[in-house]
Amino acid sequence: MNEKPEATAEKNLMTENPGMTSKITAESALETTPEISIVLPCYNESEAVGSFFKRTLPVLDRLALAYEVVCVNDGSRDDTLSELIKIKETVPQLKIVDFSKNFGKDAAMSAGLDFSKGKCVIPMDCDLQDPPELIPEMVKIWKSQNVEVVLAKREDRSDDSLAKRLTAWLFYKSFNQFSDLEIPENVGDFRLMDRKVVDVVKSFPERTRFMKGLFALAGFKTAYVGYKRPVRAEGQSKWNYWKLWNYALDGITSFSTFPLKLSTYFGLLVTMLAFLRGSWILIRTLIFGIDVPGYASLMTAILFFGGVQLVSLGIIGEYLGRIYIETKQRPLYVVKQVL
Ligand code: UDP
Ligand code: MG
Repeated sequence: MNEKPEATAEKNLMTENPGMTSKITAESALETTPEISIVLPCYNESEAVGSFFKRTLPVLDRLALAYEVVCVNDGSRDDTLSELIKIKETVPQLKIVDFSKNFGKDAAMSAGLDFSKGKCVIPMDCDLQDPPELIPEMVKIWKSQNVEVVLAKREDRSDDSLAKRLTAWLFYKSFNQFSDLEIPENVGDFRLMDRKVVDVVKSFPERTRFMKGLFALAGFKTAYVGYKRPVRAEGQSKWNYWKLWNYALDGITSFSTFPLKLSTYFGLLVTMLAFLRGSWILIRTLIFGIDVPGYASLMTAILFFGGVQLVSLGIIGEYLGRIYIETKQRPLYVVKQVL
């Protein structure tokens, strides 16, 4: 009896996955496949897109390989879209995916991956913080060294503030500690991925698209190129500490259940201590008579454990909320038009 549901689950996995892959390959074989797809999420980047294309297109042209640029307009409120349309007049390789509203960078990147057809895909930021001059080197490594992923690794973060570096370090350390995965430090979304990797990432069904984690989960053979990340060329960063904190929570809860176990371990420890302390009070009372009860120690204990319980509930809530979101199976993004 016990084995039955497991067996069906395994069968489902086996029947579902090959179906998924064959659909993807059939889909991508329909059109002529470019060699390289650049995926570019844009949110309020009207100032930046112009200079992005001015610097990136010559690099791509020099490679003499067929390429496409998939721009995802993530519900920009400025005239990013009209800028892109203007650029498209002279750049036929540009494909514009226009969202109905802002869905966030990870959703925009997922859409970019979904709409890209290239044999390899390179997600980039619009603000020229990912230097396009690295692309030829990445492509060369991908073609010559038989690797499926080429990561661009930031060699120094001296331009970032101390607080930003510290929090980034703390995040990578705790993520790698808590989850079974290892996400490489100082690596952003800027990377080259072979079609195989992209198809695997696309097949992950989850709604919470913590891309760094999904990329790492896909695995494959990886090479690195080092670079120094310049400061943002134009416009403003869309991240603040509150967003980063929530992003970190998404990352950790998506890839680890360790925080759920924390209260178990803490509870066990406290139970043990309470047992020892309780036995001691009992023995002392039997031998020396009734002690005068302490208001301060009682109050401290009540407040402390009240806090611990709320935090534990909060942790459960974080997971429960995410289960709730996942079960709804809402679409990751809504496309208004594709140009
Ligand atoms: N971005 C997006 N949707 C958002 C926020 C950002 O598509 O909701 C895009 C943005 O246009 C840029 C890239 O994601 O191309 C990186 O954003 P940003 O430069 O603000 O992040 P940072 O470099 O500071 O991490
Ligand atoms: Mg940036």
